[in-house]
Amino acid sequence: MKTRDRLRIAMQKSGRLTEPALELLTRCGLTFRQSRDKLFCFGEGEPVDLLLVRDDDIPGLIAQGVCDLGIVGRNVLSEFQLTTGRDAEPLSELRPLGFGRCRLSIAVPQELDYREPAQLEGRRIATSYPGLLGEWLRTQGIAAGVVTLAGSVEIAPKLGTADAICDLVQSGGTLVANQLRETEVLLQSEAVLAGPLTLPVDERGDMLELLLKRLDGVIQVRE
Ligand code: ATP
Ligand code: ZN
Repeated sequence: MKTRDRLRIAMQKSGRLTEPALELLTRCGLTFRQSRDKLFCFGEGEPVDLLLVRDDDIPGLIAQGVCDLGIVGRNVLSEFQLTTGRDAEPLSELRPLGFGRCRLSIAVPQELDYREPAQLEGRRIATSYPGLLGEWLRTQGIAAGVVTLAGSVEIAPKLGTADAICDLVQSGGTLVANQLRETEVLLQSEAVLAGPLTLPVDERGDMLELLLKRLDGVIQVRE
């Protein structure tokens, strides 16, 4: 692949992480000019550009070397490592960023008398995170059916396509609205700065180090 001399960061084009990610980078002293198609942001001062994409594509773009870094939920990064990215060089979580906090949890219909994970044996669980759910089920020694859905996971029990769900929870409002109850937390998540395990040792590497230093300063001030 052609080597680049500018650092390229992948981030969510439009969603929960977009605004806080841009704000964080701005606080690190970076300024950008957006391309007409809104897919790219050119760094004006420093040699750092942004690629605006769907959050699910971010780990793959780093693994392929299309981008050097990414700002993405730990949930998406971990799921990638357990599924698509399993045979590739692992990515690393360079910094937790303190926004986009949520958790990946199991929830069951409110009327179910749930006491322990073993009750999930033989049940069907709907999720968009088959990798993370599968790993948790294995560590618990539970054999359950995993029903993979791209979205609207929370309505699966009502539709009769699953007995429980495994989905992201922030306030719990969506669960209550669907008569579900959170029973197990599989992963505590927040936005993270993701990158390859081995960092580039060229101008990009120098810029990356500088960016990490500034990030640490900004995050420390916030805490
Ligand atoms: P995209 O179009 O980029 O695929 P999306 O719908 O998958 O967008 P968002 O809903 O914007 O993504 O969520 C992005 C990230 O925000 C999640 O992966 C997760 O890390 C975090 N997040 C925080 N709270 C929640 C929540 N209540 N529900 C879903 N994601 C949340
Ligand atoms: Zn997504």
